[in-house]
Amino acid sequence: MMKLQDLFQTLSAEDKALQLGFEKADPLTGAFSQKRVVHAGTQGRPVSPGQAQVLWCQVMEQTPAEKTERAAYIHIPFCQTKCLYCNFFQNAVNQTAEDYYIDCLIRELENDADFPQLKDGLIHAVFIGGGTPTSLSPHNARRLLKTIHRCLPLAGDYELTLEGRSSDLIPEKMDVWMENGVNRVSIGVQSFHTKIRRQLGRVDDQETLLKRLAGLKAYHQCSVIVDLIYGLPNQDMKAWEEDLQILTDSVVDGMDLYQLNVFYDSELEKQILAGKMSPAASTSQQAQMYAYAQEFVEKRGFSRLSICHWRRSNRERSLYNTLAKRGSTMFSFGCGAGGNVGGYSTMLHRSLKPYQSMVMEGIKPFMAMMEQTPVQSIINSILEQLERGFLDLQRLIKANDRLAELKWLYDLWEQRGLVHYDGVYSLTVAGQFWQVNIAQTTVECVEFILLQTHNIAVQGIAAQNGKAQLPGGKVMPPGHPAISLSDRGK
Ligand code: SF4
Repeated sequence: MMKLQDLFQTLSAEDKALQLGFEKADPLTGAFSQKRVVHAGTQGRPVSPGQAQVLWCQVMEQTPAEKTERAAYIHIPFCQTKCLYCNFFQNAVNQTAEDYYIDCLIRELENDADFPQLKDGLIHAVFIGGGTPTSLSPHNARRLLKTIHRCLPLAGDYELTLEGRSSDLIPEKMDVWMENGVNRVSIGVQSFHTKIRRQLGRVDDQETLLKRLAGLKAYHQCSVIVDLIYGLPNQDMKAWEEDLQILTDSVVDGMDLYQLNVFYDSELEKQILAGKMSPAASTSQQAQMYAYAQEFVEKRGFSRLSICHWRRSNRERSLYNTLAKRGSTMFSFGCGAGGNVGGYSTMLHRSLKPYQSMVMEGIKPFMAMMEQTPVQSIINSILEQLERGFLDLQRLIKANDRLAELKWLYDLWEQRGLVHYDGVYSLTVAGQFWQVNIAQTTVECVEFILLQTHNIAVQGIAAQNGKAQLPGGKVMPPGHPAISLSDRGK
């Protein structure tokens, strides 16, 4: 039986550095050369399309195994305009296409509503993500929200989030959302600086944006969540500090701070390479921006819920994101939505045509289904812990004593300044910035230790090479896809 430490002796220096990082005087900026993945996770075993439908019906005919908190993700694949940094844009807004899409989405919810797996348990959090869900016409938003209440067994204290853009925060739309039970709106602000926002394809200037956020906050039932991105072109440390100041002075209940990814072949990369736009911040500059931001917001009374999410008060729960990270049951609906039910990860068709025709035929519109790894529950527990900034190795060893081998890995990272042992391994600020790399390596090592499939582990490691900016094989937790969520669903 090969030990984890011995496995690493067989790897090339390059592969070892990818997995373990480097010993550097400043781990914040130098512990790894780059982020390996956008979301840490693991591959399962692919299920054939025919088998997927059979398995789906079997899973959905079962009554829920446990009375745990569950979630639903609903995807709206339309955007008014394409943001420069986005590699996940699906469709431009088009009223006729939107009307028919909502017909199909309603049908999909109705198709699943009577299955025991769905109706005999509660749904505690619903996230309507995209795309730009706030772009829906008031009529379509109303009929979708009414269907959600009719078809999903919502818990009494459910969280219902709508994701979108500030330019949609108009009374005609917001009235419909609030009358139909939305209690959390997440706005992709990205930067408060008018020039920086507009170069990305965002519409509102700073003054309009702040007025619109205040208008949303006036609906007292609603938590206001704002996303900012750090490392944007023309966003130096001074501009970032101003963004944080405006954010903490504003009405927000919670915030996500995401690192910019310049995706290969994206419009942003093309413009930077053509010299039409200033370069984005380097990874080490982004690391400094992250470290600065967390100190800034925590000094102003915000408390952290996950690696990149903070809240002003306990009005903000971020329940959907917590459940997604925990690997809780996730029912998914809509073109391109990712889910997780009964030990299977699922991804629905990203193209409108196959999605719509399958729904109208009465079958679940899978693009892919994966049977999750036999060690998924341990991996979920590890990912959840690391998302909260620690790893409790003793708890893992109680679940399976072979996981004691992880001590070697975490002691190495402690020497390198990424974790600090105080009964549990807590991530340092540097470890928090590099959390996704720590999590991905940990997941791959756990699969090696527990499954004892040396080749799979080695292939798994090799397979990650060259895919540094791609999702780690896990069905994408829904949320804003273009940026490191460490929460999304996007
Ligand atoms: S970043 Fe979001 S809002 Fe912008 S184009 Fe992409 S999916 Fe649409």
